[in-house]
Amino acid sequence: TIRTRVAPSPTGDPHLGTAYIALFNYCFAKQQGGEFVLRIEDTDQVRSTRESEQAIMDSLKWLGLNWDHGPDVGGEFGPYRQSERSELYRKYAHQLVEAGKAFYCFATSEELDQMRDEQVAAGLRPKYDGRGLKLSAQEVAENLAAGKPYVIRMNIPEEGTFVFEDYLRGDIEIPWENVDMQVLLKADGFPTYFLANVVDDHHMEISHIFRGEEWINSAPKLLKLYQDFGWTPPVLGHLPLLRNPDKSKLSKRKNPTSINYYKEMGFLPEALLNYLGRMGWSMPDEREKFTLDDMIEHFDIKRVSLGGPIFDIDKLNWLNGLWIRENLTDEQLIQRFLEWKFNADLMAKVIPQAKTRINTLSDLVELAGHFVAGIPTYDPALLSAGKADADVIRQALQIFIWELEALRTWDKNEIFTIAKAVATHHELKIKEFLEPIFVAISGKTSSTSVVDAMEILGSDMSRARLRAALG
Ligand code: ATP
Ligand code: GLU
Repeated sequence: TIRTRVAPSPTGDPHLGTAYIALFNYCFAKQQGGEFVLRIEDTDQVRSTRESEQAIMDSLKWLGLNWDHGPDVGGEFGPYRQSERSELYRKYAHQLVEAGKAFYCFATSEELDQMRDEQVAAGLRPKYDGRGLKLSAQEVAENLAAGKPYVIRMNIPEEGTFVFEDYLRGDIEIPWENVDMQVLLKADGFPTYFLANVVDDHHMEISHIFRGEEWINSAPKLLKLYQDFGWTPPVLGHLPLLRNPDKSKLSKRKNPTSINYYKEMGFLPEALLNYLGRMGWSMPDEREKFTLDDMIEHFDIKRVSLGGPIFDIDKLNWLNGLWIRENLTDEQLIQRFLEWKFNADLMAKVIPQAKTRINTLSDLVELAGHFVAGIPTYDPALLSAGKADADVIRQALQIFIWELEALRTWDKNEIFTIAKAVATHHELKIKEFLEPIFVAISGKTSSTSVVDAMEILGSDMSRARLRAALG
C-alpha cells in the first residue's frame, strides 16, 4: 500500500506550510489509491497544546484534506498521537543501546556547557564529544543503580560521508563529522523527534515521506536509525520551502502564516488549496485554476520544481476572485457569507457591544464594521495621536504582538493583563497604550471596547491588524 503522512507538531498556529506539505502527500497517496495519515508529533511536552492540535485538525478539514488514519478517527496502527506511544520509544531506545548503536550519557548540563566553552575557547565548533561512549559497562551500571539522570544518544561515525537518494533531488552527501550524536531519549523519558519519527513511520507502514527541505540535514540520522533497527526506510523527498516575495523563508514576521488568518480574511478553502498546489507544481496544461480532484488526477511529484515557490498574497487574492466569480452560484456565495461572518454566533457577540452606542440600526455598520472587515485602512498619524512618543508606542506594540503570540487561551482578561504589563514596562499609561491598539484594531478612534473586540476577532486577525500597524 502507498501510505503517506503529515506529522505536525502542535506547538502554535496551524501553519500554511503544514497545509502545503499535507496537500502534496495527500495527492501522492490518493492518486495511487493509497492512504493518507495524520500523526501528531507532540513529544515536546512544554510547547505542545491540545488547542494547537485541534486548530491544526480543524484547518486541514476546512481545506478538505481529510485523513484516513489519525488521532480522531483511529486506524490500525494507532494511537496517532506520539505522547500516547512513549512506551514504544523507550523500548526501542534501549534496544539500540543493547545493540551498541546508542549509548547512555550522564553528563549534566553544567558539564556540557563547560565542554562547549572549552571547545569555543580552543577555536573549535562546539559539538558533543562522545564522552558517554567512553564509560565502561561497570560505570554505566553504577550510574544507573545510583539513579543518575541520563539521556540516550545515537552512535554516529566520526568519519566518512553519508550518501542518500532524495526522491526529488537525487544523491545528497553529508559528511558524518557534520552530524551530532543526537539525543534519542531525553532525561524525562520522552523521545526526541528523531526516534519517535522513525519508530512511527516504520510501525505505521509509511511508504513515502515528502517533507520540508529544512529537514534535509536530519536525513542521515533518520536513515541511519532505519539501518540500526534493520528496517527498510520509506522513500524520502524534500519539498522546497514556501518563500516571501523577497525570497526569504515564509515566516510570520513578514506574512501571516496561520491558516486561520486566511479563513478570517474570507479566502475560500478551494482557492487557498489551489494556490498551495501551485507552489512549486503546475498542471500539465499550466492552467492556474484547478480543483483538488484535478490535482490528484494529474499529480506527479517528480514535476515539483525545487526553486523556492513564492507565496504571494496578491496572486492568491486574484485567484480567490476567480473562484468566487466562476465557481459559485449566487446562492452558494450567499451561503458562504452566512457561514463566514454573517451568522448568529457572531451577531450574538457583536450586538451587545454595539447596543449602548447606537441610535439607529444602521449605525451598526460604522460602529462595528471592523468585526467583518479585513485589515483596516487609516491615517497612520492616528497611531501616535496622543502625547506618548511614537517610537515607544511602536516598540510596545511589537512586544505586545510577541506576547500575544505566546498566549495560550485567547481571552480578554489575559489580553488586558498583557497590555497593562507592556504599557508599564514602557512607562506608558494604560490609556496611552490602548489608544493606538484601538486604532490598529478598529481603524477608528472610537468604537466598541478594544479588548472585547480583540477577543471576538480572534488571535490571528487581531495580531495581523497590529502587525499591519507597524507597517
Ligand atoms: P515562523 O517562521 O512563521 O514562525 P516556523 O518556522 O516557526 O514559522 P514552525 O512552527 O516551526 O514554523 O513550523 C510549523 C510547520 O510549518 C512545520 O511543519 C514546518 O515544516 C512548516 N513550515 C514552516 N515554515 C515553512 C515554510 N516556509 N515552507 C514550508 N513549510 C514551512
Ligand atoms: N514534526 C515535524 C514537523 O513538524 C515532522 C517532520 C517530518 O515530516 O518528518 O515538521
